[in-house]
Amino acid sequence: MADHDVLVIGGGPAGATAAYRLAKLGYRVLIIDKARFPRPKLCGGMVSLKTVNIIKAIYGDDLAELRAKKVIDYSTDGYEISYRLTSIMVKGTSHIEFHLADRVDYDAYFLGRARAAGADLVEGEAVVKVDLEENAVFLSTGKAYKARFIIGADGANSVVRQAFIRDGLCDKREWHDQMASCLEVYIDRAEVGDGKFPHPMLVFGFVKWGYAWVFPNKDRIVVGLGGLVKKNKGRKFSEILGEFLSALQIKTRAPVKIQGHPIPYGNFDLNPVANESVILVGDAGGYVDPLWGEGLYLAHRTGELAAEALDRRTKCGESLTTSYTSVIKAEVCRELAWAKWLRRFSFHPLNTKCNFVFLKILLRSLTKQILEMIHGVRSYRWLRRRKENAP
Ligand SMILES: Cc1cc2nc3c(=O)[nH]c(=O)nc-3n(C[C@H](O)[C@H](O)[C@H](O)COP(=O)(O)OP(=O)(O)OC[C@H]3O[C@@H](n4cnc5c(N)ncnc54)[C@H](O)[C@@H]3O)c2cc1C
Repeated sequence: MADHDVLVIGGGPAGATAAYRLAKLGYRVLIIDKARFPRPKLCGGMVSLKTVNIIKAIYGDDLAELRAKKVIDYSTDGYEISYRLTSIMVKGTSHIEFHLADRVDYDAYFLGRARAAGADLVEGEAVVKVDLEENAVFLSTGKAYKARFIIGADGANSVVRQAFIRDGLCDKREWHDQMASCLEVYIDRAEVGDGKFPHPMLVFGFVKWGYAWVFPNKDRIVVGLGGLVKKNKGRKFSEILGEFLSALQIKTRAPVKIQGHPIPYGNFDLNPVANESVILVGDAGGYVDPLWGEGLYLAHRTGELAAEALDRRTKCGESLTTSYTSVIKAEVCRELAWAKWLRRFSFHPLNTKCNFVFLKILLRSLTKQILEMIHGVRSYRWLRRRKENAP
């Protein structure tokens, strides 16, 4: 079948954004997702200021509209960063709010926008094979689709990336080397007591080269942790999560359901991310912040960049590989490389007492700057201010 110009594999934030932009530009787009929407996606649901800003730029929705449409379900101006529950930084009120979303509603909303813009959708059918030579995808149901372009937006376990690996275009070992494992549990607010955990908490010291978190939503709290798999060998993540829950003194009547999902955590700079007809975006391309694990901003942004590169390819004949890769390297990889450097600088000392004290002093003296860095108001590069994300 060749009724579409572009096949977008995966309808999460990256795929939905690419599809939305392309449909708006007049392309015939088909999104294929193995899940049926609304569907859950394991995530802390933290939405930073730069994510709110990019949503406004792409979709035109401001914060008030996102709240009214239940895309964002909780906001708070407080936060806490601690080491094994000893506070390093606590703020009751900061000048930038943290927003939180339930991914069931968040993802369904953006997929709905792509559909409303004209993108078609096949849901509940997984892509099981991608033929990079023929630009064809094969589904679990036996169907096959072919188009001029394919966008791989199918998350951390991307089958489109696997096709790049299979054809020897990128390295499997390097990709797995930088994967982090994440576990989460969702707990009803009624179980933990009203007023408890009103702010997001980032907690270091439980997991190596990663962190644990408690993120509040309107009706529940999300408790989780994630860290580089290779740095936590010999330790069961589920046991560490149990230890963290006990330290938080959370006792629930109903047994909690532990869920896990991988996250690319520092593998953003592995080539290639595109050939002349196939592009990887979002988690499939490894575009996740290697310090905080934030992926929503980059999912929307790389989805947008892919749509623009594809449009330039069609209208001006620009090489897709060159134009997408060069903008990704200049804008995304350079910033993430600084974040990765900061990770090395900050995660390693957390395991030694003397360096930890130094880090604590540093964090306390740069509280405002670090908060602005998390929200994208400042770049990781020497904490330079970025005009586009001013609060
Ligand atoms: C535990 C955890 C907590 C996180 N917390 C945060 C946070 O607080 N804030 C933040 O910004 N980021 C967070 N992230 C990262 C964020 O969730 C991801 O970066 C983001 O979801 C990436 O979006 P995406 O569209 O690239 O991929 P996804 O959201 O994973 O979407 C991929 C889509 O592809 C579909 N798919 C997969 N395989 C196939 C297939 N074979 N065929 C068809 N469809 C397929 C899936 O069903 C899915 O709908 C977290 C991640 C984890 C694991």
